[in-house]
Amino acid sequence: KQPPCECNDCYTGKDCSILLSDCPVNANSGDPLFLEPFWMRQAESSAALVSGWHRMSYIYQDGTYMSEALETVIRKLHSVVGNAVTDNRFVIFGSGSTQLLAAAVHALSLTNSSSSPPARLLASIPYYAMYKEQAEFFDSVHLKFEGDAFVWKNSERDDNTTQVIEVVTSPNNPDGKLKRAVLDGPNVKTIHDYAYYWPYFSPITVPADEELSLFSLSKTTGHAGSRFGWGLVKDKSVYEKMKRYITLTSMGVSRTTQLHVLQLLNVVVRDGGENIFHFGHETLKKRWETLNKVFSRSTRFSLQKIKPEYCNYFKKVRDFTPAYAWVKCERPEDANCYEIFKEAKITGRDGKVFGTEESFVRLSLIRSQDDFDHLIDMLKKLVIVEGVEA
Ligand code: PMP
Repeated sequence: KQPPCECNDCYTGKDCSILLSDCPVNANSGDPLFLEPFWMRQAESSAALVSGWHRMSYIYQDGTYMSEALETVIRKLHSVVGNAVTDNRFVIFGSGSTQLLAAAVHALSLTNSSSSPPARLLASIPYYAMYKEQAEFFDSVHLKFEGDAFVWKNSERDDNTTQVIEVVTSPNNPDGKLKRAVLDGPNVKTIHDYAYYWPYFSPITVPADEELSLFSLSKTTGHAGSRFGWGLVKDKSVYEKMKRYITLTSMGVSRTTQLHVLQLLNVVVRDGGENIFHFGHETLKKRWETLNKVFSRSTRFSLQKIKPEYCNYFKKVRDFTPAYAWVKCERPEDANCYEIFKEAKITGRDGKVFGTEESFVRLSLIRSQDDFDHLIDMLKKLVIVEGVEA
């Protein structure tokens, strides 16, 4: 006799397939499982088999830690999508763009003189929390996290000696808007985080043509767990410093991962990205239509608004379909928006995490279809309660 199935807290029924209606929904992390159905259809062509005796060495035949074939397909990917210029750029790999971010900040904060003040790291609010968290965790004598780039700009300091590093996230996490650098000047260096600059999330308006740009496999193919990212770097000495950081922290990226990524990106570029970008964009477009419908009934909550722009990839004017809903609680009595959603059994990410007010909460829209459907069910309940109360 079979023992009774032990379901987790959210499911019931003989085979644990019935979702309990009041189960809390996770809309917190940006786990990009919305692309899983695409990869299920590509199960064979995307598979990588590695025999036990393959790829045992630290290095490739050319003596480096980087696969030349992978570098070539990354350049091809940017050229078919049109989201970045790769000519006259060094390509560098990291264990996720998380590692590259640390490498870039390290490289740009190294100054010639040990007596100069620490470089200041800034980003405009709302910003991705990792920039602050990494800087504070590494606690380098060469770097201090300073906070909001606008505050620094408006402080009118006549200080031309402090090295300033601004991280520009475009499209931005959390609000999905295309961002530009706030600061400029001879002592300002910029890191462009383009994790979300793919046709799923945003019109591709121009190819990025910056000094230092970072990309993440997590948001390109959805393989967040493979821990792979890459950077495009113009300046040779910055590239060398980043390379040294990667070598001293991990001696390059896993060769097994590089093989897997090569296999995945070959599937992506095979048809000019047509399949995956259409699938991913259609999925998010439908999700945004559903979400907008739910919130259109609400006066209590509002969503970010971004004007459509011409997309060079889809060759038409299109809406933004960001990875996250950036929700504002409009009523003064709902000061802590995260808690309002938490009470309604929706776990988002608190606006405070992004350096802004508690009246905002971020909801992830790129998780699995089940998670999204569940999120919509719970949101409808919250908005209906509002209707009854009003
Ligand atoms: N930058 C931004 C703006 C992100 O949102 C994320 C992850 N969600 C990252 C970088 C890190 O990506 P990775 O998984 O490549 O480390």
